[in-house]
Amino acid sequence: MAADKMDYKKAREEMVRLQIEARGITDRRILDAMCKIPREKFVEEKFYTSAYADYPLPISDGQTISQPYIVALMTQCLNLKGNEKVLEIGTGSGYQAAILAELTRKVYSVERFETLVERAKKVIEELGYKNVNIFVGDGTVGLKDFSPYDRIIVTAAAPEVPSTLVEQLQENGILVAPVGSLYSQDLKVVEKKSGKLYTRSEGGCVFVPLIGKYGWKSNEF
Ligand code: SAM
Repeated sequence: MAADKMDYKKAREEMVRLQIEARGITDRRILDAMCKIPREKFVEEKFYTSAYADYPLPISDGQTISQPYIVALMTQCLNLKGNEKVLEIGTGSGYQAAILAELTRKVYSVERFETLVERAKKVIEELGYKNVNIFVGDGTVGLKDFSPYDRIIVTAAAPEVPSTLVEQLQENGILVAPVGSLYSQDLKVVEKKSGKLYTRSEGGCVFVPLIGKYGWKSNEF
């Protein structure tokens, strides 16, 4: 179908019903945010008509916008109530940051590619979100200036959870990250309680690598 003939609202509603709700995501606020945010704005024009498909899509710099279901699952794992300060590592297209902006008070996001940051900032601004700050940098070292964070979400595959991020997580905070090899990972949910870490796995996933000081080194693949 031609991009200008596509019914994006309908596509969004179908995506939420068939890909997200049907797979067990129950948090109404997440479902409503996904029904509201125009995902097509976060991809290149040639991908507009695939923006609501059940798989990741390419964005610039060899990176991807994650599959909608994975965005929903990671967001649900964060257990957001609305007043949290959230750090995202791996801004990519900015779509996950927009979902977070709908659901919580303040969002900081770090991306290593400047071109992605510029584009994400533009879309986020056009959509009117005032509670998102995006930075270029190596997110494996976190974002100390605004720490600690109530929630941290890592949207690229890490060999292990970077200890710097755990340090920047608030007491009673939750961190979500795909952890494993370069080819497949487990979605880990880490909770910090009385200084101790409690980790559970939410199943398998595949992400592009987290590259940086406490992630993969660019000569490792
Ligand atoms: N959350 C994104 C979205 O909503 O479009 C998808 C993120 S994409 C799967 C992973 C992103 O992590 C890529 O844009 C990649 O450049 C970024 N990344 C990888 N290593 C990073 C690092 N050390 N610091 C910041 N961003 C990093």
